[in-house]
Amino acid sequence: MNTSTLQTPPTAATGHPGGRTPASAGNPGRRLRIAVVGGGIAGLGSAWLLAQRHQVTLFEAADYVGGHSNTVEVELGGQSHPVDTGFLVFNRRTYPNLCALFEQLAVASVPSEMTFGLSLESPDIEWAGSDLGTLFAQPRNLARPGFLAMLRDIWRFNRVASRLAESAQMPAMSLGEYLAAERYSAEFRDWYLLPMAAAIWSCPTGTMLAYPLATFVSFCRNHGLLQITDRPQWLTVQGGARSYVSKIVGQLDDVRVATPVLGVERSAAGVKLRTRAGVESFDEVVFACHSDQTLAILGAKASAEERRILGAVGYQHNVALLHTDAALLPRRRKVWSAWNYLAGAGAADERPVSVSYLINRLQPLPFEVPVVVSLNPFIEPAADKLIQRFDYAHPVFDEDAIAAQAALPRIQGRNRSWFAGAWTGYGFHEDGLRSAVAVAAGLGVAAPWSNTVARADGLAAQQGHEVDIDVDLRRAA
Ligand SMILES: Cc1cc2nc3c(=O)[nH]c(=O)nc-3n(C[C@H](O)[C@H](O)[C@H](O)COP(=O)(O)OP(=O)(O)OC[C@H]3O[C@@H](n4cnc5c(N)ncnc54)[C@H](O)[C@@H]3O)c2cc1C
Repeated sequence: MNTSTLQTPPTAATGHPGGRTPASAGNPGRRLRIAVVGGGIAGLGSAWLLAQRHQVTLFEAADYVGGHSNTVEVELGGQSHPVDTGFLVFNRRTYPNLCALFEQLAVASVPSEMTFGLSLESPDIEWAGSDLGTLFAQPRNLARPGFLAMLRDIWRFNRVASRLAESAQMPAMSLGEYLAAERYSAEFRDWYLLPMAAAIWSCPTGTMLAYPLATFVSFCRNHGLLQITDRPQWLTVQGGARSYVSKIVGQLDDVRVATPVLGVERSAAGVKLRTRAGVESFDEVVFACHSDQTLAILGAKASAEERRILGAVGYQHNVALLHTDAALLPRRRKVWSAWNYLAGAGAADERPVSVSYLINRLQPLPFEVPVVVSLNPFIEPAADKLIQRFDYAHPVFDEDAIAAQAALPRIQGRNRSWFAGAWTGYGFHEDGLRSAVAVAAGLGVAAPWSNTVARADGLAAQQGHEVDIDVDLRRAA
């Protein structure tokens, strides 16, 4: 594996392809007809930017626009309020493009919270990283050698992994092999590291053990998971993510909801898109859906290179249930956190696990009862407490996916086709928008904020792209 590609922040989407020839080449003033496939942040961002100069049609398969920006209206106890079930939080430090977009759209944000709690059924253990009181919410954790070993190993791993990430000598082994070789405690592995990683990647802990160490450490470093000081203030969109989605949609001329793109024909003359309504012609197409969905649209017409690159990214399918059942939160109310990792009985690698987002902690809600989004819950919430079910898919960033990201510039802009999506980076909202900014730039449209954010991006790359759901040992100490 080429570890040098892993040391850098995601550049695949921003990599400018050599030799691409958009239809406007030779006539930079020409207004193109551009189809954008997918109405998540990558598609919305692409469409909004490109519409500054071109004629854009946005196609969205679902019956709402937003993709993982999915706000629903919840009614409880006679009150109604918007609740986000997908994209929830961002910060000013490592989401420079998103913050700049929100400024352009005059979208307001409010403070959010990113705390992590863990609740295992067997052994009976619960803790959260918010402060001393939650760390030792079970007083016997103070006298539990395994728990204290876990705390010591958190400090050790953060220190050693930071050094490893900076050195050029990353051992070529899996995360599981590394933890065993370095004799990290089972408690550190099973009560902290794997739950945290599984919550971030939304995948089973067994999958995490097989991750290449270099990928894992690089990701943690770039996401600020190895640092315990100087954390960013997390924010959430006031009124829910739909506030920004509706502002963008309001500024676009042609948005087709519930219109899946079924196929595409690309030739020197242009692009023909097929939907249930028929076939339409465009000059260029931006695929802003997941890479496997793009491949399905391209079908047999995909080039060998497209098949290789887009096909290398795997997806983890996750069921998300929106509900009000506290049975899917830690047993001790004190341990309730913004992100809660829950595991049932069974051996560490086999037991069922799920993650519950306590939305009341993440967004200002007027409700007394807990409003929860549980990913892959292993017990069903009570029927009278279930509000809605959603199906989401997350990209899995393994060795193949990372190699595919690095190779993306080879197909970007070729054959009148552009590729955007959070999958081109680390899977977060900023990655989706950053990829849209890159695609728009490739088609001759600079983001209004491109000068300021280019500088901020460089700074974020130096500091690491941070996601702060780590246990706050500083506050806990
Ligand atoms: C539960 C959950 C919580 C999350 N929380 C956060 C968070 O707090 N912060 C953060 O930064 N990130 C978060 N994420 C990550 C999130 O996935 C990304 O931030 C980002 O929203 C993904 O954007 P995207 O545009 O790449 O893909 P998507 O939002 O998935 O959009 C792709 C769109 O393409 C459409 N589509 C697919 N096929 C077709 C077709 N054939 N024709 C037309 N349209 C099609 C889909 O319907 C979809 O709307 C979360 C994700 C989930 C699931």
